[in-house]
Amino acid sequence: TRILGIEGTAWAASAAVYDDTTERLFVESDAYQPASGGIHPREAAEHMRSAIPEVIETALDQAEGPIDAVAFSRGPGLGPCLRIVGTAARSLAGTLDVPLVGVNHMVAHLEIGRHRSGFDSPICLNASGANAHVLGFRNGRYRVLGETMDTGVGNAIDKFTRHVGWSHPGGPKVEQAAMEGSYIDLPYVVKGMDFSFSGIMSAAKDAYDEGVPVEDVSDALQETIFAMLTEVAERALSLTGRNELVLGGGVGQNKRLREMLQEMADQRGARFFAPEPELLRDNAGMIAVLGATMYEAGDTIPIADSGIDADFRPDQVPVTWRSETIP
Ligand code: ATP
Repeated sequence: TRILGIEGTAWAASAAVYDDTTERLFVESDAYQPASGGIHPREAAEHMRSAIPEVIETALDQAEGPIDAVAFSRGPGLGPCLRIVGTAARSLAGTLDVPLVGVNHMVAHLEIGRHRSGFDSPICLNASGANAHVLGFRNGRYRVLGETMDTGVGNAIDKFTRHVGWSHPGGPKVEQAAMEGSYIDLPYVVKGMDFSFSGIMSAAKDAYDEGVPVEDVSDALQETIFAMLTEVAERALSLTGRNELVLGGGVGQNKRLREMLQEMADQRGARFFAPEPELLRDNAGMIAVLGATMYEAGDTIPIADSGIDADFRPDQVPVTWRSETIP
């Protein structure tokens, strides 16, 4: 099976071709870089409009034979961006006369880790820009075991960096600055299996305004936020009795987060896997790979039912491509 994947939920205009016989994966991406501030939905959509045709053309040029299906991100994401990518996917599937596969972006973040690791039924920590949740497979769905009660984890970090005047995206800048910083106290909020980032974000801004060096605030932000994510991931492993953990999402590119998760996994004799950075941040590779799996399972959608869903939750997706292996 050879699948064209298209991704465009927020900032990455991306297209990929995946051949599940040779396992060759080609990904072409064009990132939207805001002139100032954070991601502006209308500007991001304009970026999609101008960049999507080109990345698709490049990906199709790399395909070593005909495409069997077109897979695209149906959501969650920014509505104006999703609508453009949905239109591109539908018209392409129509032109090539192949089926359409509608992929949940968050399930794709998870499945690429499972695909790359070969793990059977891992717990997944999705630490992305607009989301933060812990997922586990049970009775035909990826259940949301824990999630953010307010903002996504990457967005929280980006809001702090906007406050200090750093350009988007802020995550890598905080990671860099934290190397020179030392820890200060910031609010740590985990309630049961859920986390909240808005309090820590305000406290970090206040600390900076009061003159605490930005390196120290950056260090404390990372240590506190990542400890919260690690705590919930550990509790999910413990409560479900599973011993595999995969990481997904753009914040997963952070080395300190990966180090903390690895250490936690080692301490409890669990296995931990994080895909390479190119497949952690938004990318069409993960859409093409899950698209191929769904296509093989017969999970295609008629064009008439292929509307986008900006609030598409991972637990809304009937997982047609897996059988229950863990009770
Ligand atoms: P979603 O997948 O929920 O739609 P998204 O589209 O915003 O989220 P991702 O590509 O998964 O995108 O993640 C982008 C986020 O990752 C940004 O908030 C960015 O600051 C953050 N990020 C990138 N690199 C790092 C890093 N090294 N450390 C921490 N955060 C990072």
